[in-house]
Amino acid sequence: MTFAVHGIAVARGIAIGRAVVTGSGRADVVHYFIQPDQIGPEIERIRVGRNAVVEEIQRLQQTITTMGPKEAPHELSALLDVHLMLLQDEELIEGVKHWITDRLYNAEWALTTQLEVLSRQFDDMEDEYLRERKADLEQVAERILRYMKGIPSPVTQPVARRKTQQDLLLDDSVDVPLVLVAHDLSPADMLQFKQSVFAGFVTDVGGKTSHTAIVARSLDIPAVVGARSASNLVRQDDWVIIDGDTGVMIVDPSAIILAEYGFKQRQAELERSRLNRLRHTAAVTLDGQKVELLANIELPDDAVGALKAGAVGVGLFRSEFLFMGHGGDMPDEEAQYQAYKRAIEGMQGLPVTIRTLDVGADKPLDDSRRDFAHLNPALGLRAIRLSLAEPDMFRTQVRAILRAAAHGKVNLLIPMIAHATEIRQTLSLIDFARAELDNRGVPYGSVEIGAMIEIPAAALSLRTFLKYFDFLSIGTNDLIQYTLAIDRSDESVAHLYDPCHPAVLRLVADTIAECRRQNKGVSVCGEMAGDTQFTRLLLGLGLRSFSMHPAQILAVKQEVLRADASRLETWAREVVDSEDPAQALAG
Ligand code: PEP
Ligand code: MG
Repeated sequence: MTFAVHGIAVARGIAIGRAVVTGSGRADVVHYFIQPDQIGPEIERIRVGRNAVVEEIQRLQQTITTMGPKEAPHELSALLDVHLMLLQDEELIEGVKHWITDRLYNAEWALTTQLEVLSRQFDDMEDEYLRERKADLEQVAERILRYMKGIPSPVTQPVARRKTQQDLLLDDSVDVPLVLVAHDLSPADMLQFKQSVFAGFVTDVGGKTSHTAIVARSLDIPAVVGARSASNLVRQDDWVIIDGDTGVMIVDPSAIILAEYGFKQRQAELERSRLNRLRHTAAVTLDGQKVELLANIELPDDAVGALKAGAVGVGLFRSEFLFMGHGGDMPDEEAQYQAYKRAIEGMQGLPVTIRTLDVGADKPLDDSRRDFAHLNPALGLRAIRLSLAEPDMFRTQVRAILRAAAHGKVNLLIPMIAHATEIRQTLSLIDFARAELDNRGVPYGSVEIGAMIEIPAAALSLRTFLKYFDFLSIGTNDLIQYTLAIDRSDESVAHLYDPCHPAVLRLVADTIAECRRQNKGVSVCGEMAGDTQFTRLLLGLGLRSFSMHPAQILAVKQEVLRADASRLETWAREVVDSEDPAQALAG
């Protein structure tokens, strides 16, 4: 039966494929594809895991036969029998083999997938006793997974995408595109998916500028977030269509709907190849104003895609992604230096703006020593606040960036800063880091130092900021969040997250105007910069530097080429001053 699930559109395009559903409870299970020659070893891992659990239960059974009925009631022994029976159940074993052999899932993923299939069968049972056996099944699967944590997989790297959306065939071969349907994905999960095969994804939670959505946009695959109970409504292997333009997922589509979306998909591909022709065209407005279109990147290797998309530099390197997925082991100075150097060299002489660590809130480090689980994490110890609380960590990062700056033009960007005391502390720690390198006799380069304008207090203290900093970069994602008191990752208030609110636009407009007055560099690096709906407005307000995901550069460039910046000035001022800027923008 065809049905639609609505959410928030975050990354454009259409994806059609089979659903891979991951529930919230098993987020710690690794998901990756194996090579065909690893099918045997993966099945063996499951077999070894299952046998170990069978032996464990049999040992337990022997122990309880020596106990009296008080310590080991009869029910306990009966329950262990049920567990043994479930472990030997053909449907579990054959199902797991199917996911490994036919879909090339790794063993843990295959087991949890089959567990979900069987759980649904239990849910549908009439008999209450049998329905309750679902919990037993989950327990034995957990035991196997726990045992398997100790048996490493022969595969450590996810394999590359095997087939693209264009290759879609309505058959059941291994190469059918896959789309991910999850309760939630952490930014670290998303990084893993950067190298993976998914053609699109949907999550139950998240808002338009949540970090999951941002990484999705950087993957350039269609995505919908905040789709509430999508991961419960969709079943493993269902055919689904993800419409990243309208924020809808269609489950089990009919042939007519499939044909319609197939057509839309081809149209989008045509549009993409048309835009591609602008790659080598300079971004200059009709009245001759040069506009700088920069890239936002998360990892050093993203520089390749940035150059390919025609970026003239990196306006925001979110360095925190280097720190994720290491189980709490922070990269040391040398590892960071090598990573920054790789990004700088990857940009082949173009400038790179590296932002210091911005973790906390919805970008946690998987480090149990640092507890971010406070009541209001978005207002807590994140970004520069954390760096100032851990000065050794901050100086290590700054030294690595300064050393990398010997290899190209580098700007250093400070996130979430608001107070004059924070500014002075930050700058003196940077001086300290320089002095440490001098003492060690290590070469380093010079950097311009900039601040992000993400907190309204910063946007209202421009004179202080411009006294200390060489340039400013407006982080509209957080600026909107903090101006409107809307959690950017909470889908329940996503309708109130409004870039067009007059207060937000006024803060953006004033920041651009003040920087221009003082002849200081200013750019926008939040999602607004890559949204073509705002290109003309920002140009009219005097912005000449936009930083966005590489995938958005060509569409924004097209807007720039069509704009007459001087003519947009009065109109832009009117939009900002109007009661309903969204309407003025559309009109
Ligand atoms: C922003 O807040 O606009 C920004 C660019 O930073 P991030 O999205 O990484 O918080
Ligand atoms: Mg931010």
